[in-house]
Amino acid sequence: MRLGLEVEAVAPVIRSRPVGPSQREYANGAAVISTSLEPLELLDLLQDVECWFGRRRQGQRWRSRTLDLDIVLWSGGCWADAVLTVPHREFRKRGFVLGPAARIAPHWRDPLSGLTLRQLANRLNRSSAKA
Ligand code: ATP
Ligand code: CA
Ligand code: CA
Repeated sequence: MRLGLEVEAVAPVIRSRPVGPSQREYANGAAVISTSLEPLELLDLLQDVECWFGRRRQGQRWRSRTLDLDIVLWSGGCWADAVLTVPHREFRKRGFVLGPAARIAPHWRDPLSGLTLRQLANRLNRSSAKA
């Protein structure tokens, strides 16, 4: 099946403790993809893929789920409307996102902080080492 996505790079998977009420550990990854889809079309497609993997949206965030596909950064910069915010609002605080993402796109710059993924990952590692 052709989805209109080209996978450019895939990060090694890392495991993480869940955020919120879910009890399961997660396997986290990141991929760089290129596509001619618009951001909202891509979000729709990612949600279809989640559904194919058995995810059922029950209207509550952070429930246990079989697959969660988020858009972290976009080469077009920023996007903000009722259904999509890019860069992802929380990604700078999440080691399970920054770790894999910095492995495959270390020089990709966050348009809001001006820092690269590697810099963001290092900053988070330093602050969690102090905590
Ligand atoms: P979090 O956003 O904290 O990672 P989540 O991924 O568990 O939480 P979901 O229930 O999967 O949250 O998604 C809730 C809604 O977030 C989606 O229906 C989508 O409209 C919206 N959303 C906003 N920005 C993004 C983004 N960058 N990537 C994916 N979904 C997004
Ligand atoms: Ca998420
Ligand atoms: Ca999501």
